[in-house]
Amino acid sequence: MSSNPRIFILSGPSGAGKTTLLNILLRKKNIQKKFVRAISFTTRKKRPGEKEGRDYFFISKKEFLALKKQNFFLESQRVFDNYYGTPKYFYEEAKNEGKNLILCIDVKGGMYLKSKYKLDRIIALFITAPSELALRKRLKGRIEDDETIQKRVALSSKEMEFAKHYDGIIINEDLKKASAALEKIVRQNLNN
Ligand code: ADP
Ligand code: 5GP
Repeated sequence: MSSNPRIFILSGPSGAGKTTLLNILLRKKNIQKKFVRAISFTTRKKRPGEKEGRDYFFISKKEFLALKKQNFFLESQRVFDNYYGTPKYFYEEAKNEGKNLILCIDVKGGMYLKSKYKLDRIIALFITAPSELALRKRLKGRIEDDETIQKRVALSSKEMEFAKHYDGIIINEDLKKASAALEKIVRQNLNN
């Protein structure tokens, strides 16, 4: 089967809960089988508990820039002081298997893909924490150092300005409610 995949984008401040919500969503087998989940490449350091190939592919800046030059990425951005990119092959895999593609990317990457693809192929969702205090607590809970937390919280207010360009906003306060909201939107918009 080969059809252009529908692309579900989850964006929003770091620490808002995008990865947590995506993991919960893909635990539903009847949803999981309809998706290819893109794993990004990044130049940032691995956090404790993160796994190569499950959370990210961790590479050096030199390797990243060489791949970028080879047109390896569907999109890529510099976020904080690191590079992040979605490899094209996940898009190809979704296309070949007649599946949907889902990815967690920053707002610049989200806006780029929205401009690149026809609007009916993109479902861009903005995930946010209920407050800056909650965001700070979540970042702290993820065992980020103070400087990293500071940078991420500072960027979050700029990222919030992009929320209006998204197709939907999910306030991730109660995890159960937020994951039900995400599941509902996803089911309504599945390709097949
Ligand atoms: P993101 O992928 O957006 O950077 P994560 O999914 O890594 O964020 O979540 C950041 C932290 O917040 C994690 O420790 C996660 O367990 C926690 N978290 C996620 N959603 C909630 C929620 N609704 N309430 C409390 N903590 C949450
Ligand atoms: P983190 O370091 O917290 O994992 O991610 C930092 C930011 O980079 C988050 O907003 C995350 O969604 C974003 N990000 C992760 N992978 C990609 C990617 O492949 N492309 C883009 N544009 N952003 C990404």
